[in-house]
Amino acid sequence: MKPSAISSAVSSDNLEIPLIDFSAFVSGDAPTRRTTAQAILEGFQAAGFIYLRNHGIPKSDVQATFAESQKFFKRPQAQKELLCWTTPEANRGYSQPGREKTTDLIDAADIEAKRAEEGADLKESMEIGREGEPDHPNQWPDRFDDDGQAFKKQMLAFHDTCKTLHGQVMSAIAVGLGIDEHYFDSFCDGGDNTLRLLHYPEVRHEVFVKNVNQADEDQWQDLTPVMPTTLFGLGLKRSSNQLDYPPAISRKQSSTTAVVELKTPSMEHFKRPNIGLGKKHASNDKRDKQSKERSQSKHKDAAPAPAKAVMKPVKLGMIMESPPILFLGGPQEATGAIISGRLQVSPSAGDVVMNTIVMYLECTTTTARPVEARCRECMSTVTDLYEWNFLSKPKTFKATEGTQELPFSHLIPGHLPALTHGQIGTIDYSLHVRAKSSDGQETELRRELIIQRALRPGNDKNSVRIFPPTDLSLHVTLPSVIHPIGEFPITCRMTGVTNKRNDTQTRWRLRKLTWRIEEKETMVSPACAKHAAKVGGEGKGVQHTHDREIGTDELKVGWKTDFSDGQIDGEFMAAINSAAKPQCEVDAPNGLKISHILVIELVIAEEWAPNKKPDQATPTGAARVLRTQFNLHVTERAGMGISWDDEMPPTYEDVPASPPHYQADHTFVREYDGEDIRGDMEQLTLEH
Ligand SMILES: [Zn+2]
Repeated sequence: MKPSAISSAVSSDNLEIPLIDFSAFVSGDAPTRRTTAQAILEGFQAAGFIYLRNHGIPKSDVQATFAESQKFFKRPQAQKELLCWTTPEANRGYSQPGREKTTDLIDAADIEAKRAEEGADLKESMEIGREGEPDHPNQWPDRFDDDGQAFKKQMLAFHDTCKTLHGQVMSAIAVGLGIDEHYFDSFCDGGDNTLRLLHYPEVRHEVFVKNVNQADEDQWQDLTPVMPTTLFGLGLKRSSNQLDYPPAISRKQSSTTAVVELKTPSMEHFKRPNIGLGKKHASNDKRDKQSKERSQSKHKDAAPAPAKAVMKPVKLGMIMESPPILFLGGPQEATGAIISGRLQVSPSAGDVVMNTIVMYLECTTTTARPVEARCRECMSTVTDLYEWNFLSKPKTFKATEGTQELPFSHLIPGHLPALTHGQIGTIDYSLHVRAKSSDGQETELRRELIIQRALRPGNDKNSVRIFPPTDLSLHVTLPSVIHPIGEFPITCRMTGVTNKRNDTQTRWRLRKLTWRIEEKETMVSPACAKHAAKVGGEGKGVQHTHDREIGTDELKVGWKTDFSDGQIDGEFMAAINSAAKPQCEVDAPNGLKISHILVIELVIAEEWAPNKKPDQATPTGAARVLRTQFNLHVTERAGMGISWDDEMPPTYEDVPASPPHYQADHTFVREYDGEDIRGDMEQLTLEH
């Protein structure tokens, strides 16, 4: 059940926008705060929007802002147009009706066609950002009259008020993500929130129906305008039958409606990707298929460039601002990692008009064992996980203005498999920018993204193995996670070593301990459309496995034997050989799976001694090899100073149930038939 602070403001098949009592986050107790924060995060992840009530902004303040907003939009059109946006980056100023791009389409001609078909967007808007940005001035009407000055004063004050709320919402997102609640502070304290005034002019009913399809109209007609609830928008992914800001319009009051919207630009692209790796082969999913086709054609054009070298109209560069991408926790629990950066566009020679600048977050998977040998399509698959359209309409980049920067950000979802370079399969990520100028020339930029995962370290794992028919038990303690680089301790205790009778005893002496770490890889090689028949249809693949040893050692000393207690104790260090290019644990939806085991082999020799003189031992000649194995979790180190929730209870995956039961296939005993170990025995006996 949802907590009382959370209800649904909008609920339809594809869209649910939660209505959240923000006071539950600001002044609730710890659990209420956390559930509220999680609901806020989920709202942003699922719908892209949330509504807040009890947000702490006084009603009088909201009303005054609305009043000024209404007065502003009543100004003559010519006046308003003097306050238009100067550049998309400025994100400040007036937008007349029909100017905002409200579609996913990229091509300018397609957008025009869609506008002609559906009618232009009816709303006009005014964006206000942080005051005093030299390159991005706010566009104030204060030069026209006193009302203009009053408008500026009210909006500046309200923008500041909203900045505080913005910070609180970002805190809530941090709490929802399970990271430090001040994590975003330094990203937001500059006040980069946008105050957006929207105005939906009065329209005739027929126009409304054309603009909004009938189903939506029925859906929204009972809803009232948005304030004093506050709408936080994070760039809702639109589908063709969704309204941009649905609840802001209601049929009953299709007269003048003003809406104040607060945008958090740093989170503009905070969406779930539409195409998961797991859906790669869902050929009945139309959307998926389209994207796949687009992806393929994209890479087709990207293939060999014409021999004639043409000077590209722009140079592209990229600055990443976010720390390296590290998911904390397994695919089920990791909340993801935020990337942010700036795409740099510099005209090469003279002014240039760019029609589109699109960037894709791509995942490339390859298999070394393709279904059809040497078929590139069978070998490698590219999936677009996300895309950014930087331009809503063609834009001129002036040579005199030099390099211009287009900011971007995205929450990379934590369920994605980390970058992996296995023996059979690989997974890589990149940002791929394609910029097209008005004369059809294309410039590309590709930047590799390293995505890593760090499983949370928990308590050490204790495991017990028995070796029937002997009375021997081996207790092993291992770290819950180990790393590709660096040593880790293995603590062993063997019990049941001594078997005492009335006058004599037999006992097992540990002669040799061998450990090795094995990496086990499984990969499902997919088939391209052309070769799908070879594997029995599209979506199927061929499974391959590959095991290899990535670390081993043999020890003959280093443990303490206490025959009176019947116990042998030792601790030794083990490590993966980093030259073997070990891979971290992964279990990807495309079938690439890598796991690790530690195999321990003990060679024990039996000896006999009188109870009165236990030091005078005689070998009986019997020897055994005991073998057992343990799962290892190989993962990156959780460095980077990112704190995670330490209250997370440890998991004890490998601790046997109590009382423990032992699976025979975990252990193995056989006769020793190796090299003679007597020589070692003499040497060792002297030490004890
Ligand atoms: Zn093929």
